Amino acid sequence: MKKVSAISWELIDAINESARACYPQEFLCLSRHNDGVVDELLLIPGTVYGDSHGFLNMWMSPINASIAGTVHSHPGYRNEPSDADIDFFSSWGGIHIITCQPYNRSSWKAYDSNGYELKVNMVD
Ligand SMILES: [Zn+2]
Repeated sequence: MKKVSAISWELIDAINESARACYPQEFLCLSRHNDGVVDELLLIPGTVYGDSHGFLNMWMSPINASIAGTVHSHPGYRNEPSDADIDFFSSWGGIHIITCQPYNRSSWKAYDSNGYELKVNMVD
């Protein structure tokens, strides 16, 4: 798999828009990358949004090498991953984006599968 090297701002805007639409529930989906730039959301049929935590139906997800990782939103003002989040990340590898209120360009962070913050380059 090509190493993911950047995230597009457009993707972040789309994530925050979806997060606002789902609030007060969590928004949850997968992301894809093209040539190492994470720039596409992959909505999974069968995804259930819950108050406590989104549940992703793994059986419905396509096996696809271009999957970059996961994306989800937190109602509230914390974008740190919970223990459950880190368990979830480890199933998917790659890069995991969490956004929180107020769902803007500075309210999100990216993490690796162990829950450590990743520094990523941004592209327009
Ligand atoms: Zn979470």
